[in-house]
Amino acid sequence: MIPITKKISVVSVPNNGRFPYCYCMLIKDSVRAIIDTSCEEKKAREIAAQGLDLVINTHFHEDHIMFNWIFDKSQIWAHSMDAPAIRSLDLWKDLFGFSHYGDNDLGDIYRKNIKAKSSPVHRELQDGELIDLGTVKLRVLHTPGHTQGHCSYFEENEEILYAGEITLSNFGPWYGHLDSDIDQYIKSIERCRKLKPKLVISSHLGLINDDIDKRMQAFLNRIYEKEAVILNELKTPQTLEQLTEKKLYYGTKRQLPHFRTFFEKVAIHKHLQRLAAAKQIVSENGVYFTV
Ligand SMILES: [Zn+2]
Repeated sequence: MIPITKKISVVSVPNNGRFPYCYCMLIKDSVRAIIDTSCEEKKAREIAAQGLDLVINTHFHEDHIMFNWIFDKSQIWAHSMDAPAIRSLDLWKDLFGFSHYGDNDLGDIYRKNIKAKSSPVHRELQDGELIDLGTVKLRVLHTPGHTQGHCSYFEENEEILYAGEITLSNFGPWYGHLDSDIDQYIKSIERCRKLKPKLVISSHLGLINDDIDKRMQAFLNRIYEKEAVILNELKTPQTLEQLTEKKLYYGTKRQLPHFRTFFEKVAIHKHLQRLAAAKQIVSENGVYFTV
C-alpha cells in the first residue's frame, strides 16, 4: 500500500502496473471503497476480508474489473455506458469491433482469453455526481474516449485525480477498439488538465505529482504526433491494411501479436476517419490519400 492521505492509499501492483494490472485506489472512510480491482488476487481477497462497501470502476476493460467478482458483498458502481459490458462479457467482443472489422474468429479467441469474470453493476453513474464516502468525496467525471463510459474521479478537497486511462504515459492514449473515440479522448484530457490536480493517480503509472500540466500536454500531443505521421504517409496513396503493416500507432520496435495488430488497425482507422472529417484526406475504393 502506498499511503496518500490519512484515508486514501494506492494499492501497489506487480509488473509496474502494466496490463493486466492497474493501480487501484483504496479509501478507508465512513464508506470503504476501492477504485478498480485489477491488483493481485491475494491482495483483492485481503481487502475484501477487511470489509469493503463499494467498488467503483473506471471502465469495463479486463485490466480494471478483474477481481470485481471477489467483492461479492460490495456494491459495484460504474458509468451507465460501460455497465452493460461489465455485466456481460459477451458484449465485449462487439465493443472491441472484431465482427465489425471482419475478424470474428479473432474475437472468439479474445473472448475465451478474457480472464476477468462478469459482475453485477448495482448503480450506474452519471457525470457530475458526488460520491460521498465521509471526509473523502469523489466527483464523477465522465471522460470518454478510451471507452464510451470511461470515468475519472476527482477528490476535490485534496485535489487528487484518479485519472484512469488518462495515464500520462509516453505511449499516449489508447484508442484501439471500436468503442474508442479520439475526439472525445482529446476533450477528456483537456478537461482533466483544466482541473490542475495536485496529484494524479494513473491506472498504469501510479502516482504522478510532478510536471502534471506538462505531462498532460505531452500525453495529448501523442495523438497529434501520430496523426501527423499518418498524414505524411498518405502523400503516397495507401489502404488501411498497408498503413497497419507500418506500425505507425504502436511503433516499429514492438512485436505485434494478433490482437495488437487488430488494435493497430482500428487505431489507424480512427485517425483516418478524423482526417477525412477534417477534409485533410479522401478515400477511393479503400485507398486513402491526402487532398
Ligand atoms: Zn482500458
